[in-house]
Amino acid sequence: MRWDNLAENSRNATDPDGAALPGDAALFGTDAVTTRTFDTPEFRGMTFHEVRARSILNRVPGASRMPFEWTVNPYRGCTHACVYCFARKTHSYLDLDTGHGFDSQIIVKVNAPELLRRQLGSRRWQGAHVAMGTNVDCYQRAEGRYRLMPGIIGALRDHANPFSILTKGTLILRDLDLLRQAADVTEVGISVSVGFTDGELWRSVEPGTPAPERRLDVVRTLADHGIGCAVLMAPVIPFLSDHPDQLRATVRAIASAGATSVTPLVLHLRPGAREWFMAWLARERPHLVRRYERLYAEGAYAPKWYQRRITRHVHELAAEFGIGPARRGAPRRVPAPAEPFLAEPEATQLTLL
Ligand code: SF4
Repeated sequence: MRWDNLAENSRNATDPDGAALPGDAALFGTDAVTTRTFDTPEFRGMTFHEVRARSILNRVPGASRMPFEWTVNPYRGCTHACVYCFARKTHSYLDLDTGHGFDSQIIVKVNAPELLRRQLGSRRWQGAHVAMGTNVDCYQRAEGRYRLMPGIIGALRDHANPFSILTKGTLILRDLDLLRQAADVTEVGISVSVGFTDGELWRSVEPGTPAPERRLDVVRTLADHGIGCAVLMAPVIPFLSDHPDQLRATVRAIASAGATSVTPLVLHLRPGAREWFMAWLARERPHLVRRYERLYAEGAYAPKWYQRRITRHVHELAAEFGIGPARRGAPRRVPAPAEPFLAEPEATQLTLL
């Protein structure tokens, strides 16, 4: 990798972690990169590039279309390695491979907690809601080693700054006490992403993630501790997880875990994700390639009729299984992002965690 490109590309505001309060400074400088590997089974084959970020609060371009205006992303790249991951394209901005490179070359902003604390304390900061997990997962495996989230949540708690987290990582339970402390002083929204409960599909499509059942255990545990948790049912994968029986099984499992709400989201395939997903499909489910080419013939999104059909069906199931709005007296929470986002050079793009 060329680190001068990495720094220069980030300076050109082509990534979702562009400058916020400090103006248009680069994300980090070439002098700040330390590369590490760890010889443990958990991290074998992965490379971590430790950087000292120059800014950590990131303003969302076109935020009026989003339920949040600011994000914090302590990592780039994601070892959860979902084949459909929308964020793959962001690795190309750094001259990194968007396929396996995205899964194994991880940028770690090691100074994220201290930088966030400083920026939250700035007189220019107005205390806006901060969304996390909207680009890559902040509770991916690397977080077990780098432990950036406790410092980040601690800073938000100390400034009583509202925030939300979207994750597939069970590691979030490590920070349960901190989350409860934060929820005592500000609005905290937690969402877990569970698109389906099919174990075989999970192993193939989301190979680095905790199993769907383990993620639903997170929902259950948070609920047991008074922290409401929503589920983003994403992605619903056409022809692989959209059968009525599969939708029913998934919504039933989400309901029994005690989710406060369920929001379905059909797979979309933006550039970067599309190539990697279609290569997986050709390898693992070749009989579906033609059907996908037809369904996604118009671009990144499945047709509206298909999206509406899935949404309606999931909402009916949610009503049947009794998932509804938070009851009076339920834990305080703010709405989770309906869809995670990816900032690209020209525009904000709706994306998928
Ligand atoms: S979809 Fe989410 S959890 Fe999966 S690789 Fe992408 S950022 Fe990580």
